[in-house]
Amino acid sequence: MRLEDLPENWDLIIIGGGITGAGILSLASRMGLRVLLLERNDFAWGTSSRSSKLIHGGFRYLREGKMSLTWASVKERERLLKEAPGLVEPLGFLLPVYRDRGLGRWPLETGFTLYDLIARKRDHRFYDPEAFSMRSPHVNRDMLVGGFKFSDAQVDDARLVLRLIKEAHLSGSRVQALNYVTVNQITRDASGNVSGIDATDTETSVQRALSCRVVINATGSWVEALHPSPDPGFHIRPLRGSHLLFPLWKLPTILALSFFHPSDGRPIAAIPWEGGLLVGTTDIDYKEDLLVEPAITSKEVSYLLEGLKHEFPALDISAKDCLSSFSGIRPILSQRGKAPSKESREHVIWVSRGLVTVTGGKLTTFRRVALHALKAAGPFLPSGTPEPWKGPLFSPVPHAAGENCNLSPHAWRRLCGRYGDAANELVSKAAPEDLKTIPGTKTLWAELPFAGRYEQVHHLSDLMLRRVRIGLLSPSGATGHLDRIQELCAPVMSWDSARWKMEREAYHEHWKSKYAPLPIPSDLTRKTGSLR
Ligand SMILES: Cc1cc2nc3c(=O)[nH]c(=O)nc-3n(C[C@H](O)[C@H](O)[C@H](O)COP(=O)(O)OP(=O)(O)OC[C@H]3O[C@@H](n4cnc5c(N)ncnc54)[C@H](O)[C@@H]3O)c2cc1C
Repeated sequence: MRLEDLPENWDLIIIGGGITGAGILSLASRMGLRVLLLERNDFAWGTSSRSSKLIHGGFRYLREGKMSLTWASVKERERLLKEAPGLVEPLGFLLPVYRDRGLGRWPLETGFTLYDLIARKRDHRFYDPEAFSMRSPHVNRDMLVGGFKFSDAQVDDARLVLRLIKEAHLSGSRVQALNYVTVNQITRDASGNVSGIDATDTETSVQRALSCRVVINATGSWVEALHPSPDPGFHIRPLRGSHLLFPLWKLPTILALSFFHPSDGRPIAAIPWEGGLLVGTTDIDYKEDLLVEPAITSKEVSYLLEGLKHEFPALDISAKDCLSSFSGIRPILSQRGKAPSKESREHVIWVSRGLVTVTGGKLTTFRRVALHALKAAGPFLPSGTPEPWKGPLFSPVPHAAGENCNLSPHAWRRLCGRYGDAANELVSKAAPEDLKTIPGTKTLWAELPFAGRYEQVHHLSDLMLRRVRIGLLSPSGATGHLDRIQELCAPVMSWDSARWKMEREAYHEHWKSKYAPLPIPSDLTRKTGSLR
């Protein structure tokens, strides 16, 4: 369905197809509402495909005394681990402790104990230097006094958004979600109450005015374009965070490694993810136009490499080992001139006569953020609307393992987590050779035509960077696989060969400018330091 085919009247229109909008759509779809979500780019195009992919309590928030955020995050983590197996999975972390830098053993011990108490499980342990080095053989042993193992969880952020949207959509004809539609403005009646929105299809330029009772503005870092902050001293402070991706063999590990950067003491993590190694993040003010897609800078590349080299000196990791990079913008609400990493990660909600704006927050706490946003929207919804849904977010995954297709239990679980009930169809439609993984990744070839057929793919970058993540995980953005991908997807997508050619060229250019690892100018490799 496209913009021109939509019904005119809705109860609720959600602007923004990141995790916040998708979470709200998911809960609202269980409340019997006529609800529409509109996304200007692709679903999860914004920060929600560019995170560190952690569903985490946020140990650092505990250090900062933000007990309630840690509490909520740990509770949500435990809930998601239970409700979304295969999509949200446990992840063990190692954290070395040094005599001359970073946090000492006892402050960390106190933090981890609190962390465990909230989750109601004992999940951390301290190892002496020998035992710790056996678990992380490449770690810098100079001044090492030992290290901790603790647990959090990880996710494929874009697939989390997509699963929420898809399952909400499947729940009934009263729910719609369209990508590539920009909301230009929110319209109000003569008394100043919200009456609807004006939107444009960004591909065809078709325009529509739609009516609704309430609008939720869930546009992340972009919220103030549609609803300026009601408090003049309190505005979005866009902070860029960037990551590098390496092949996992460069630092073979099944546990994530967390350490403090030698130049400024900020926490950095090296995380095994989807067959690659994700290293990040930075945290710096984003001074560019917010409409420009962010990309890593040479200075950030140098900073991350400096951290890696210091922590894993024997591995000789360099920029030439890097597969890709990506950058996202944190939607942070800021009142004072704090250091970026000290700014609050709590969400905020502003309400103005039928317009609810919600921003800030974390991927981890999206359900809680959605609940709060829908509560704020409650007074504008039809009388008799039930309370926001508090039950399980995802439909149960199918039990029938892919027995007939020789998938490992792990691969089947992963598919169920990403595609829910549709995993059965994905597998049953696939040729046996397409149920193999793409080298260096956990992605099956069969996921590509499935996504191309059913998941509102408009451009090749939607497919390569968000439906599956091989554009990040395979060398050169997986352009070496494009012949096979075209062969697999062409029969189920409506693109002719001229369109494929154009999409392939556009994708390659886009990848080179926004996702390629940057070469480091020689002056920067010598002089690095804090990013603040
Ligand atoms: C580097 C980094 C690492 C992070 N790591 C983690 C982590 O590990 N764990 C965690 O819990 N959190 C993490 N976060 C935070 C988390 O990713 C964000 O808080 C979250 O993704 C924000 O989601 P959102 O939906 O509010 O915004 P977004 O994902 O940015 O979505 C907003 C959407 O609105 C759309 N939009 C804007 N204007 C319009 C318009 N006019 N019409 C229609 N659509 C519009 C945009 O295109 C965008 O897709 C991280 C953030 C960063 C930057």
